[in-house]
Amino acid sequence: MSNPLSSLEVIALTKKHNYGTWRKQKNWNPSHLLSADGCYFTDGDGKRFLDFSSQLMCMNLGHNNPAVIQSIQDQASTLAYAAPFYATTARAELSKLLLDVLPPGMTKFFFTTSGTDANEAAFKIARMYTGKTKIISRYRSYHGSTSSSIAATGDPRRWPIEPSGKGHGVIFSPEVNCYKCPIRHTYPQCGIACADYLEHMIANEGDVAAVLVEPVVGTNGVLIPPPEYFPKLRKICDDHGVLLIADEVMSGWGRTGKWFAIDNWGVQPDILTTAKGITSAYVPLGLCATTQKIADFFEENYFAHGHTYEAHPMTLAPAIATIHKMQRLGLIDRANEMGAYLGEKLHALKASHPSIGNVRGLGLFWAVELVKDQQAKRPFNTWQEKLDGKPILVEQIAARMLSKGVVMQAWMSHFVLAPPLIVEKAQIDEAVAALDEALILADALLEA
Ligand code: PLP
Repeated sequence: MSNPLSSLEVIALTKKHNYGTWRKQKNWNPSHLLSADGCYFTDGDGKRFLDFSSQLMCMNLGHNNPAVIQSIQDQASTLAYAAPFYATTARAELSKLLLDVLPPGMTKFFFTTSGTDANEAAFKIARMYTGKTKIISRYRSYHGSTSSSIAATGDPRRWPIEPSGKGHGVIFSPEVNCYKCPIRHTYPQCGIACADYLEHMIANEGDVAAVLVEPVVGTNGVLIPPPEYFPKLRKICDDHGVLLIADEVMSGWGRTGKWFAIDNWGVQPDILTTAKGITSAYVPLGLCATTQKIADFFEENYFAHGHTYEAHPMTLAPAIATIHKMQRLGLIDRANEMGAYLGEKLHALKASHPSIGNVRGLGLFWAVELVKDQQAKRPFNTWQEKLDGKPILVEQIAARMLSKGVVMQAWMSHFVLAPPLIVEKAQIDEAVAALDEALILADALLEA
């Protein structure tokens, strides 16, 4: 066997021959991730990091879980692959288990290999089922990087591809953001005007197949709608014969203190998509789940969709192990318990940092939003600066935390805090202390 590569060689080869995602390539400086356990990972220099974003908000069980690893090994030695038109034991067992954890009414499943292709399936199913074309999405949203999903993404990650790849039939609505309402209303006096506006859009657009939402918006800032929003949206969709698609790629799997974020409002979507936490990201698996009513439609109508890797047994077995492990460890309750502790700490942090405009969260899904001034709530940076590769304050703060051994996701003007659901109080203390120290960079830049 050849000598193992040094960390420097690993980094150099990776950077030379691979594309770094979502950035100018000259600005990609990957570190060498060598091993990981629980809430920590270790780099090539032996330095240990607290992973307070569960990698990409996906390793809800934490790193190196023996039961999930065992399930992959067992499946590999039994049946490594089956074409999608076969029934397999893993497929049957997972389908049965999903009925226990998905929102009621979700009974028919299409398995994919990522969140973006779960959404591609959802859009096609919605269009085939309704015979209509348009999808209403929101500006502050992310739904994936493939053609239709990036076209349905509201945030400016769609800008560089939009001139040539404009998706047909996607229209954007204002996001539900009670901290900084884009239609300048104040909750609760607004009477949920954002939902009324959406109804106005449906009525005037015509040909709307579906409304697409992240029930709790993820990367774009952990935006949590008020209690009346989802019941009202459900009624609007029903009144207009429009499907409700819940994109739970990030917000699912216990992240918000329920199995799925939409469960916080007791509302049933027509289609639910998910990925990430479904296997705790140990293998790539996505899911597009529909109601029986939609399933029945395809008994007599051609289901025009499929992939070679649909329902790949190697991806399904670890999903079964992940769900069982989450149930055994009581991780939904734990997300609520630890989330309440994290929330208390973050609210206390806000009191001592004038650069924090807002703190919000559900379960173990929190955002800390920075502003230049509390009144106008102006951000420190613009999207154009980010796309141009200019320095972004929250990224500089995240780099300072990283140097102290804490990894936290920074995005435009906020941090997303999403540790593994097995996180302990001491680790929450460690992360909040790192943020407390690093926020000096923002406080120093405040406008008088
Ligand atoms: N939808 C949401 C809400 C997401 O957060 C993401 C990824 O972060 C996606 C879809 C795309 O998932 P994937 O990266 O697995 O394609």
